[in-house]
Amino acid sequence: MAVPKRRTSKMKKRQRRTHQKLCVPGMNNCPDCGELKMSHRVCPSCGNYKGQSVEETE
Ligand SMILES: [Zn+2]
Repeated sequence: MAVPKRRTSKMKKRQRRTHQKLCVPGMNNCPDCGELKMSHRVCPSCGNYKGQSVEETE
């Protein structure tokens, strides 16, 4: 089994992890209000989906 010859330095470890995103995948900003929303879902803050408002009955 291959074993690493050297311990990965803190700097190299951190450089590698800069590409790991902090935010959850599948989340993006609403084009209407700019709030963070889940993709393919109606925006919880403004209630828009695909540029048109989805009005709730009642
Ligand atoms: Zn919105």
